[in-house]
Amino acid sequence: MNIIQEPWFKAIKRPSRYIGGEINSIKKGNGKIDVSICLAFPDLYEIGMSHLGIKILYHILNGRSWIRAERVFCPAKDLGDALKERGIPLMSLESCTSVSKFDLVGFSIQHELCLTNVLYMLELSGIPLRSDERKDPFPLIIAGGPGCFNPEPFSPIFDAILIGDGERASVEICKVVRKFKKRRFKDRDALLIELSHIDGVYIPSFFEVEYDRESVRSIENRMGTKNFIEKAIIPDLNQYPLPESPIIPNTISVHERLSVEISRGCGRGCRFCQAGMIYRPVRERSPHTIISYAEEALKNTGYEELSLLSLSSGDYSCIRELLGVLMDRVSDKKVAISLPSLRVDSFDPEWLRQIKRVRKTGFTLAPEVGTERLRAIINKPIRDEEIIDISSRIFASGWNLIKLYFMIGLPHEKWEDIEGIYTLSSQVSRQKGGIFRRYAVNVSLSVFVPKAHTPFMWESQMYPDKAWKIIKMLKRSFHRPCIRLKFNPPEMSWLEGIISRGDRRLFAVILSAYRRGALFDSWSESFSKEIWDEALKEHGIDPEIYLRGRDRDELFPWEHLRCGVEKSYMFKEWERAKEGKITPDCRSKCSNCGVCDSKDIGPKIFKDIGVIELSPFKAKDKRSSTKRFILVYSKKGPSIFLSHLEFQNMMIRALRRAGINMEYSKGFHPMPKVSFLSALPVGIGSLHETMIIEIRDPDMEKESLKERINKALFEGVRILHIEELPSSKINFCVDQVVYSVKTKDRIFKYKNLKDFLSQREFHVIKWNGRRVDLKAQIKEIRWISENELVVTLKNIQGPKLNIQETLKKIFKLRDQDLHRCEILKIDEAVNLKTFA
Ligand code: SF4
Repeated sequence: MNIIQEPWFKAIKRPSRYIGGEINSIKKGNGKIDVSICLAFPDLYEIGMSHLGIKILYHILNGRSWIRAERVFCPAKDLGDALKERGIPLMSLESCTSVSKFDLVGFSIQHELCLTNVLYMLELSGIPLRSDERKDPFPLIIAGGPGCFNPEPFSPIFDAILIGDGERASVEICKVVRKFKKRRFKDRDALLIELSHIDGVYIPSFFEVEYDRESVRSIENRMGTKNFIEKAIIPDLNQYPLPESPIIPNTISVHERLSVEISRGCGRGCRFCQAGMIYRPVRERSPHTIISYAEEALKNTGYEELSLLSLSSGDYSCIRELLGVLMDRVSDKKVAISLPSLRVDSFDPEWLRQIKRVRKTGFTLAPEVGTERLRAIINKPIRDEEIIDISSRIFASGWNLIKLYFMIGLPHEKWEDIEGIYTLSSQVSRQKGGIFRRYAVNVSLSVFVPKAHTPFMWESQMYPDKAWKIIKMLKRSFHRPCIRLKFNPPEMSWLEGIISRGDRRLFAVILSAYRRGALFDSWSESFSKEIWDEALKEHGIDPEIYLRGRDRDELFPWEHLRCGVEKSYMFKEWERAKEGKITPDCRSKCSNCGVCDSKDIGPKIFKDIGVIELSPFKAKDKRSSTKRFILVYSKKGPSIFLSHLEFQNMMIRALRRAGINMEYSKGFHPMPKVSFLSALPVGIGSLHETMIIEIRDPDMEKESLKERINKALFEGVRILHIEELPSSKINFCVDQVVYSVKTKDRIFKYKNLKDFLSQREFHVIKWNGRRVDLKAQIKEIRWISENELVVTLKNIQGPKLNIQETLKKIFKLRDQDLHRCEILKIDEAVNLKTFA
């Protein structure tokens, strides 16, 4: 069953999240498949599809002929309710298979606030929520991702948890499952024992934990397998290339760009940063791999921005040369490059020159705290002067906005550190000069959360009431019109803090919060602290147990899970923090944290770009003459659920993938010269849509253009006809549109039509309060039967109703009647005037 064919689906908001069929997605039949895995992301589609990890695993797994990997995302509440109401299970995007029918379901746990969504997805799939309630070996419910380095609070959900890099371990897990399936073993424990031998795989049910009132007394392995789980690690990322044809999301996603992971791990050793510890050591991809991958993936996606991803992009050893070569090769395709995470102390003015060759992508600087004293404590020794100097260079190079990121509640924080946030932000904003009409600085603030596997894991966390006092004080200070203060609600950090250093006793609380309605906790608009307070109270748990500072010798709930960095090293770092002592970047001097071995695990860096053999670089046709074409296309199938904006994006990317050399506008953000003549409402198909494109290719013939574009289009979209337009100035508009309306129900009463036709004027009030005379808007309504009409709408000036609203008003239809109608735009009259 495919829910998009159901009439009720037309009432779902942002339906493009659920239609699948994206460019570069992979559909495999059941033919030679031994193992099926559903990659589950516990947040909305647009968040999950911005995440690189799921795309990497999807392509690695599907790269094996015997594995079928599909995806499922957390549905928004409206779809979840609709599925529940109709008893329809949650299904994968690729083949609409129920999630419960896969051999494996692998959840990506990115943070602590997605856990109620995991429960929601399991419940919608009809899968029992606790591992010990599931008796069959399959589906095996597993988890992975950075949130799994302390999985104890949610460990009762999962049969197995992968700690560390997923590239190799995920395939190993599938191999074990294949072996068990082939031998038709039904013994669940035997399967779990076999899985536990894979590096990084943790089987929570094998471990028994005992507690004192506040802390963990003991953690024991009852099965005699490994007592300590070391993280899985890929020593050389170059052995696992990034997907050259990553899936392009249907919706406007959070990150509308091609992400290229240039390195993993960070040697800086910031003492608050969990990612900086758990991903050690630094492993860079080779410049050659990055450049050839970027070129190929841009060709296969049509993205117009390339993001060089890393915990600190500027620390990539030969970033200057890499940026130069990349810009040389992509700039005339109007592809911009962004460096999303920059350290001030690795900043290079050359980046500004390179980046602005196409488009000025944003700059975020993270001073983290307001003073140099506190920056020494957190091991991020950046001087205020450096931050101000770099800001001034960024503004001088033409950027209008800088984002600054700060935390409050760090260990040893004083009032002067809080005041420092204001002072430093003001100094940065002053670097812009001139009259401030717009924001120059966005200050983003959040409460520090001490995380497992960091030197600050022994520290206490600030409570929301104190955080609010600080935020209010800062809000009063930030009265300068050019600085905008944004902050994460401290209550959300409070919950993150409880779970991130929590233990298994919290699972009952998570379950209870879910039963009380907690969902999408990482979205401030749906987060409710009251629900979590009640859930904690119900189980007699004082949050202070988890937010308090810890004793030196206390057993942590994650004591049996190892990220490679030794606990003794983190303790030493905690001690050094108290004295404000700096530990240098381990790429220049190893501080023996314990991650590297004498064999293959160690920093992998590329000090220079070396001799790079690349495919011959074909410069774009620089001839100034352009050609203009008018294209008529149809839009049917799943594409009818794309909004106009999503459709435009999809079309422009298709033109880029087809290698069409489009003409661009000039200015700050050059845009391709593509015009869409009308906007179709979501849920309506069309046999006649029109667009005009201008291209910089005097030799391009219309038939070749049609063929190239058609090869790159989304399912259901087809170019039907192309004509070349004269190069003179043109004006165009759509004069009228013809729709065919069919339904299985007899809902179009002739009496309603007669009433309408008999009136001279027919005024209705639109949803926005504006009055429309529907008579003026309708050219013709042909009543064929009570099930079928043909309606011609005129394109009048001023407010008007779309086809659905028009039918609703004339035939007095309910929403559910409309959802049962199949509306198809069958023609449009385009008025095109050319001027000499
Ligand atoms: S062992 Fe040394 S080089 Fe390796 S990650 Fe730790 S500090 Fe860095």
